[in-house]
Amino acid sequence: MNEITNPQLIELDKRTVEFYKLIQGYFGGLSNLYGKERYKEELDGILDKSNEIIPETEFDDLVLRNIQSNLRLNDLTLDYLTNPSFELSVIDFFDKIAGNGVYGLLEERVKSPPWEKKWKYAERTRERNCTRVNRFTEEAQTAAKSWIPRIKEDILNYGKEEGLLPENFDMTLLLLPPKERSEWSSWSSVTRIFNLGSYGFDFFHRGKEGVVAIPTKAYGAAFHEVLGHGAHQIHSADMPLSTRFTEQIVGITPTKSITEGVAINSENRAYEFLRNRLDNLGITEEDAALLQIDDELQEQSRYEYMYYALLKDRELREKGFNAYEHLLNLTQNPVIARQFKENFKEGFESMWEQTGHTLGPLHYGKMEKTVREKFGKDYPERERKRFNAAALTGVWSWEVYPDAVAYILKNE
Ligand SMILES: [Zn+2]
Repeated sequence: MNEITNPQLIELDKRTVEFYKLIQGYFGGLSNLYGKERYKEELDGILDKSNEIIPETEFDDLVLRNIQSNLRLNDLTLDYLTNPSFELSVIDFFDKIAGNGVYGLLEERVKSPPWEKKWKYAERTRERNCTRVNRFTEEAQTAAKSWIPRIKEDILNYGKEEGLLPENFDMTLLLLPPKERSEWSSWSSVTRIFNLGSYGFDFFHRGKEGVVAIPTKAYGAAFHEVLGHGAHQIHSADMPLSTRFTEQIVGITPTKSITEGVAINSENRAYEFLRNRLDNLGITEEDAALLQIDDELQEQSRYEYMYYALLKDRELREKGFNAYEHLLNLTQNPVIARQFKENFKEGFESMWEQTGHTLGPLHYGKMEKTVREKFGKDYPERERKRFNAAALTGVWSWEVYPDAVAYILKNE
């Protein structure tokens, strides 16, 4: 049973979710020194209490370790941003909140980008881009809207067949209007509204057919938001309070990697879904293939931006460190180094929101590796539904997630 036994831990679990709310408030105004005092006071109280608790069961131990990991790594992040005499170097800090060696991994990715893949993607999309239609036109938006009921039905059916969503599950799907910049999709755990960004569709003019909307990105977004975040919320609903999917928990630094890791993994399953329905959806293998390459290139960009942000911080914090020289030396690419120097303005503080998207696939992969080691090399494929359900049960810190999923699989 996924229930806490130790009565003190039950209390600590309740206190921790209240604290998650305070953390969310503090993150909204990090310069507020009164907020910092309130935050530190409650943090110390909870950590002291947590050190007194002796777990009675393996599950208790997981929940306790999870609370400590969440609060410790989240505090390290807040300390990095707000403490004028923070002691760790940028690299050491990042490796602590992201995992040992992750800074080096980002550096490797920046050093050797997949140039050939980028080049071929540009080649493959050149011709099709000539028939693109502006998404702000009424015709484009009408074409997009006509897909909405269909996408909702497909996602609900698939989610229920795969055991990701319960039989009585329903949601609201809203299409957001197109914007010039920063368009995104979202899942609201409170209202169960899936907001689908207008970027979910590519619009083309096709002779007599007129303006058509290709919905591959919309399906990818639905897999991310509904079958990722939504299913995660539902599968975690009976778990201890501090491991449920809430609007607050997704703001705790080490759980961000797991919420987004789960969602991005779900998003990757959209390729197979689309390939099995090409005729049915009126799309081509090329449409599905381009979605996949686009996502792979996006993963690369996320690594690059995070690395650039850390370089900016190193420049601020490490005397004599020249980020331009460093990047030029690393990449041997003056174009990249110059663009970074002239155009890139973000430090880690503004990239923090992206830590989950950037590191999620990495930490999800570590969990999968653990499961293969403990339950057999082909377990995730052989026991797909059981594995997916366990991976969706509980919102954990990345430090505890592999053990938590293994525990759930063992104790079902
Ligand atoms: Zn997400």
